[in-house]
Amino acid sequence: MFILAESPAAQLVSPESGGNLALHQSLATIAYVAAAVLFIFSLGGLANQESARRGNLYGIAGMILAILATVYGYMQAGFAPMILAIVPAVIIGAILAARVPMTGMPELVAMLHSFVGLAAVLVGISSHIEPGVHVEAGKELVHAIEIFIGVFIGAVTFTGSILAFLKLRGSVSGTPVTLPGRHWINLSMLVGCGLLGVWFCQSGHYPGGMLPLLLMTLIACVIGVHIVIAIGGADMPVVVSMLNSYSGWAAAAAGFMLKNHLLIVTGALVGSSGAILSYIMCAAMNRSFLSVILGGFGTSGGTSSQTVEGTVTEFSVEDTVQLLRDAKQIVIVPGYGMAVAQAQHSLAEVVKTLSGLGKQVRFAIHPVAGRLPGHMNVLLAEASIPYDVVLEMDEINDDMPDTDAILVIGANDIVNPAAMEDPCSPIAGMPVIEVWKAGTVVVMKRGMATGYAGVDNPLFYKDNTQMLFGDAKTNVDLILQQLRS
Ligand code: NDP
Repeated sequence: MFILAESPAAQLVSPESGGNLALHQSLATIAYVAAAVLFIFSLGGLANQESARRGNLYGIAGMILAILATVYGYMQAGFAPMILAIVPAVIIGAILAARVPMTGMPELVAMLHSFVGLAAVLVGISSHIEPGVHVEAGKELVHAIEIFIGVFIGAVTFTGSILAFLKLRGSVSGTPVTLPGRHWINLSMLVGCGLLGVWFCQSGHYPGGMLPLLLMTLIACVIGVHIVIAIGGADMPVVVSMLNSYSGWAAAAAGFMLKNHLLIVTGALVGSSGAILSYIMCAAMNRSFLSVILGGFGTSGGTSSQTVEGTVTEFSVEDTVQLLRDAKQIVIVPGYGMAVAQAQHSLAEVVKTLSGLGKQVRFAIHPVAGRLPGHMNVLLAEASIPYDVVLEMDEINDDMPDTDAILVIGANDIVNPAAMEDPCSPIAGMPVIEVWKAGTVVVMKRGMATGYAGVDNPLFYKDNTQMLFGDAKTNVDLILQQLRS
C-alpha cells in the first residue's frame, strides 16, 4: 500500500494561497471520498470471481486518484520531492509485479507488507521528532498514544513480514521454532512495551521520549519475529493474511498520526478485511484464530506418530487415459505442482475433450491449495475453465464416494488423509479433500517428495491410488494427445 502523506488541504496548501484555499480543500476532500468509495467497491468486486477483474480496476482507479490528490496537495510545498519519490517507486513496483510468477506472489505480498510496517515505524518516529501536523492543545497525549501504537504495530508487521518472506522463499526453514514458555515471553514483551508506553507518554516533546520509543520498537521487532517463527509450514497461509491485516492497521495508525482520513479509512478496510480473511481461513483449516494471533499454532506435536508404509503402484499415461475413458464422474484436484508446471491450459483442453465424450468433469478446490488464497481459482480462470465446474472443498467432498476417477495434479498436503487419521500429524485437524473415498485416484507428481508442510502422505500407499510420475504439464499434454487420438 502506498503511504499517503498528510491530507487536510489546510495543512498541505499554504495559507498564503488565500481565496484558492477553500477550492483546494474541497477538491482534496472530494478526491479522498471518491478514492475511499472506489476502495469499498473494489473489495465488493473481489468477493466473487465474475466481478474480481472489475474490483481490481476500482482499486487501481482509487489508488491513482489518492496519489494524484496527495501530489496535488503537495504541489505548493514542492513538486520535485514527490516526483523523485513516486517515479522510481512506480517503476520498481511495475517491474517486480510484471516479473513475479504466480507461485512467487505470497513472497512479494509479504515483502510489500514489510514496507507498510517500516513506513508506519518511520512515520511514527518522524512524527515524534517533528509532528508536521498541528496538534491541538490538550491533545498531545492522544497524539503520543497514536505514535506509540502506530510504531508498535508497524515494527511487528515489519519483522514478521520479512520472516514470512524468508520462510515462503525457503531461505529460512518452515519448521516451527517454539521456545519453551513462548506465550510467557510474548506476554512479558507486551507488558514491557506497555510500561515503555507510559514512560513515553510522560516524556513530553522530542528529544524526550526517544529512548522508550526506540526500546519499544526493538522489542516489537522481536515480537514480530517470535510470532512468525513459531508457525509451521502448512499454516503459513493464515500468517500471510494475518500480516496483511496487521499492515492495514499499521497504515491506519499512520493515518491517525498524519491526520490523513483516507489513510485511516483505507488502512481500516485492509485491516478488517485481512482479519476477516484470516478468520475464514482459520475456520477452513480448523485452527483457532486466537492462537494464530498469538503465534505458534499447528505446532503441538510436529512429528507424526505413524510411519507411512506400504507399496506404491505406478500408472502409465495409457492407464490414466483408459481410466478416464471408462469413468463417468471425474474430479480434478489441482495443487501447487500444477501452478509450477503451468499445466492449467492443457488441463482446460483435457476437460473440454472429456466433456465432449459425455463425462462429468469437476474441479475440487481446497482453501489453501497452492501458495496463496484463491491461487487455483485464478489459474483456472486464466485458462477459461467455466466457474460452474470449479467447486470448493466443502461443496464437493460429500460426492467423493460417487466419483469414479480422481486426478490429483501436483497436490499433496491438501489430500493427505493423515490430517484426519493421525492426531499427532502437524496437519492434524486440517480439513482435506477426501479423494481416497473415490473409485480410483491418480496422483500426478514428479516423485515421492512431501508437500509444503513436510509431512508424508499415506494416500500414495492406498490400494485405490495410482502414481503417475513426471512433470504435470508433460503428463497432461500426453493425456490430451492420447485422448484426442
Ligand atoms: P503441496 O506443497 O502440499 O504439494 C505440491 C506437490 O506438487 C509437491 O509434493 C510436489 O511433489 C509436486 N510438484 C511440484 N512441482 C511439480 C511439477 N512440476 N509437476 C508435478 N508435480 C509437482 O501443495 P498443495 O497445493 O497440495 O498444498 C498447499 C500447501 O502449501 C499447504 O501445506 C498450505 O498450507 C501451504 N501454503 C499455502 C498457502 C496459501 O495461501 N494457499 C501459502 C503458503 C503455504 P514432487 O516434488 O514429488 O513433484
